Amino acid sequence: MHPLLENFSPEQFQQDLVGWYRDQKRDLPWRRSADPYHIWISEIMLQQTKVDTVIPYYYRFLEAFPTIEALAQAEEDQVMKQWEGLGYYSRARNLHQAVKEVAEEYGGIVPSGKKEFRSLKGVGPYTAGAVLSIAFDKPEPAVDGNVMRVFSRLLCLYEDIGKQSTKSTFEAVLGEILPLTSPSDFNQAVMELGALICTPTSPGCLLCPVQEHCKARAAGVQEELPVKEKKKAPRKQEMAAAIIWNGRGEILIHQRPDKGLLARLWEFPNTAVEKEAERAEEMGAYLEAEASVTPEIERPVQRVEQTFSHLIWNVHVYEGKAERTGLPEGWKWVPLDDIANYALPVAHQKIYKTLVERMELK
Ligand code: SF4
Repeated sequence: MHPLLENFSPEQFQQDLVGWYRDQKRDLPWRRSADPYHIWISEIMLQQTKVDTVIPYYYRFLEAFPTIEALAQAEEDQVMKQWEGLGYYSRARNLHQAVKEVAEEYGGIVPSGKKEFRSLKGVGPYTAGAVLSIAFDKPEPAVDGNVMRVFSRLLCLYEDIGKQSTKSTFEAVLGEILPLTSPSDFNQAVMELGALICTPTSPGCLLCPVQEHCKARAAGVQEELPVKEKKKAPRKQEMAAAIIWNGRGEILIHQRPDKGLLARLWEFPNTAVEKEAERAEEMGAYLEAEASVTPEIERPVQRVEQTFSHLIWNVHVYEGKAERTGLPEGWKWVPLDDIANYALPVAHQKIYKTLVERMELK
């Protein structure tokens, strides 16, 4: 028995927790499905993202790609378009790759073996644990930030949950207390407890079905846990972006590089800028150097922001025109309406929306 489980009764804990879950669980769309493909999609979408945000994406995504085959055969741009606005786009690209592997190597059937499922692109220990337990009822731990918060409190553990060693500790502990019957309900019950009762701030201990088992509550320290080292505040980056029209009513767009932030999404041309007075000139120089386009930047039209965990883009948007020239790879002239078919980062969706509204008013 793991030393952290001293004076902890796994059987009684399982009973109290799973009994509560079966009685109180939310009716979520992916809980109505036993299809491993649906459960996999939901687990990927739910990473770092709230349930309410995920629900409409989940429905739209499955409407567009109802089966493994449909997703495997889709173009990457179509997949990214369905993911647009959900963020953390590498999740979608990896999922697409992994589903192609399932179609090619496993005949379109999601593999239920841990080794096989873990070998798929983008499938880490959490996703494997969640999908294998929920879809196949395998006794695999699924440890993410929510689960670590709940167990930091239950076991009164003052270890930084940002460290891999803490995660390993919880995986070992969960491995010991996971029931062999209904591991699906057990893992979902822990997640549900973290979402509804043992929330990040002000845990609802009075309503908690496992309060009798909770060491932090017994010691009155539940609000001090979990220990999590503070992240640095995001850095602000000044940017200039440009809506560049040519004489045929088309607009210049650019695909981001294959690697890094928002890889392969499309955007209005933009660049980091320093001095306020020189933003338009810097934008012009960037377009000449990267796209061989010599624009006349006419006026500023908008400012938009996009916040990432480590960075804030403060984007000053300009409008201008240029001759319709041939373009290097990764650049396109596109009619205004067609831009809606490209997956754009949130800041560029805002630019596009405002532009469409302005054009409709003309
Ligand atoms: S008793 Fe309170 S701190 Fe402990 S698991 Fe329940 S909600 Fe969380």
